[in-house]
Amino acid sequence: MSVTRNIKCPNCGVFNTNKEYCKNCNTLISHEKKRDLKEEAYKEALIKEAKEKLNKPNLAERLKKHPFFLYRVIGWILYSAFLVVSAIGALLAWFIAMVAAG
Ligand SMILES: [Zn+2]
Repeated sequence: MSVTRNIKCPNCGVFNTNKEYCKNCNTLISHEKKRDLKEEAYKEALIKEAKEKLNKPNLAERLKKHPFFLYRVIGWILYSAFLVVSAIGALLAWFIAMVAAG
């Protein structure tokens, strides 16, 4: 049993039966479809946000470009600390690899 739904187009006033888009002016009239599209848009926004976060320069990079001198100094300190930590990490990894290789 299929449900027949008559939806009046909010744009032109034409009644459409079981249609997602108005047969007269092509306006989206299906509430389900609208909800689906909304959910899709929401998901896409979440994905986009996550991607932007990944692409965004980290705190140190942003501080390095800060208009205030003091903030730039903090940025460079953070950046140096990050470099040192990375270097130590790489050194440790190399050392462990050497030891493991015997
Ligand atoms: Zn219409």
